Amino acid sequence: MGAQPCGAPGLYVHVPFCVARCRYCAFASSVYDRAGAERYLVALAREAAGFGTWALGFGNGSCAESPKPKAESRPFATLYLGGGTPTVLPAELLERLCALPAIAAALRDAGERTVEANPGTVDAARLGLLRRAGFDRISLGAQSFDDAELALLGRVHRAGETAEAVRLARAAGFDNLGLDLIFGLPGQRPEGFLASLEAALRLAPEHVSLYGLTYEPGTPLAEEVKGTAPIAARHRYRYRNRSGARNGRAERKDFSPLRGSDTDSDSDTDADRTGTADGPRLRPCDEEAERDMYLAAVGRLRSAGYAHYEIANFALPGRESRHNLNYWAGGEYLGLGAGAASYLDGERRVNTGDVAEYCARVEAGRSPVESAERLGAEKRAREALMLGLRMTSGVDLAGFRARTGFDAQAIFGATLESHLAAGRIELASGRLGLTLEGLLVANAVMADFI
Ligand code: SF4
Repeated sequence: MGAQPCGAPGLYVHVPFCVARCRYCAFASSVYDRAGAERYLVALAREAAGFGTWALGFGNGSCAESPKPKAESRPFATLYLGGGTPTVLPAELLERLCALPAIAAALRDAGERTVEANPGTVDAARLGLLRRAGFDRISLGAQSFDDAELALLGRVHRAGETAEAVRLARAAGFDNLGLDLIFGLPGQRPEGFLASLEAALRLAPEHVSLYGLTYEPGTPLAEEVKGTAPIAARHRYRYRNRSGARNGRAERKDFSPLRGSDTDSDSDTDADRTGTADGPRLRPCDEEAERDMYLAAVGRLRSAGYAHYEIANFALPGRESRHNLNYWAGGEYLGLGAGAASYLDGERRVNTGDVAEYCARVEAGRSPVESAERLGAEKRAREALMLGLRMTSGVDLAGFRARTGFDAQAIFGATLESHLAAGRIELASGRLGLTLEGLLVANAVMADFI
């Protein structure tokens, strides 16, 4: 499939609240509290109203720094309500959110309406409400089907709750459902990850996303890997002990995910407890195991009928995420809420990710935009190529030239040549795409094109 911008922009709405912070999370989110959520919804309504005349022909267009209103109405092609955890909101706040004019209009008119949800935060009432409001696609953050891995990640749910969430979503009428999984966890072996993938496939999702765990600076997992924070007590035994006897997982016995500790010992030393700089560290998954997980998962998903259409994304025929396809095609989108990004009329804007700051700015009639950049023609072309390479269908070079005015081989010269020579990129039938080898190091390859 070739990704082409679909014309009308996508609408992304961010709900920056969660039950608790996951231990790897660097997203704009904070722990849910009712007063904070109510304040946020008022601010969100006000920000959305500022884009009213631009997008849909309603609202007052009063936000001083919103894009120039356009005479014509521009309905949104897709809607994505993400987070955070939208389903942490109680039913009455979800109802209020869905009734905001911009969201209500997108729920009525957009061709795809996705809501993100986390197992452990959904029930029949919330799911029924969301489905009746117009959401037709749900993306569930399963992440793993191993309870100890979920605990290590700091997820609030357990594996059984994912199966229940899928059952409830189906009962509510969601016939387009995606599951997200994370691989490359400390101590994870390929067979462990593939067991999670099999558990996910048994739930028959229409879409599967696979993300490699990253250690974002400042997160508890990153600190534990650096050795600047002690490994949380409840994870210490499993992720330190070579024998695996206490957790009964014999398959981990030849793999020690800790650095700087006596991994044969069952005792908690002082160093284990304090996690000094010289003490034990959480050991990231080794690269070879991570590579094996990804390749095996790609093969398994393909054999199960899922098209591998983007680096991390797999879908049954016709069930690709249209909202995300628009991003990768370089299409326009409007992001509302704390931390949300927009790309409109050649300008990229990012709102402050600090929820309190976001509310304060909007309440004071100031723009929540923290950074804005107008992209020049060449930068737009570079980004278009980088985003296009995320798609397994690659980039049609003639189409790229027609769209951007640039010849890819001329502007990327030596960079392109070196990746072609190294077998990370291939050129076939006028299309440029990542090879399987390139997919494994995709982020590094794409960074070279910026
Ligand atoms: S549920 Fe998502 S957004 Fe919320 S803390 Fe966890 S990773 Fe972050």
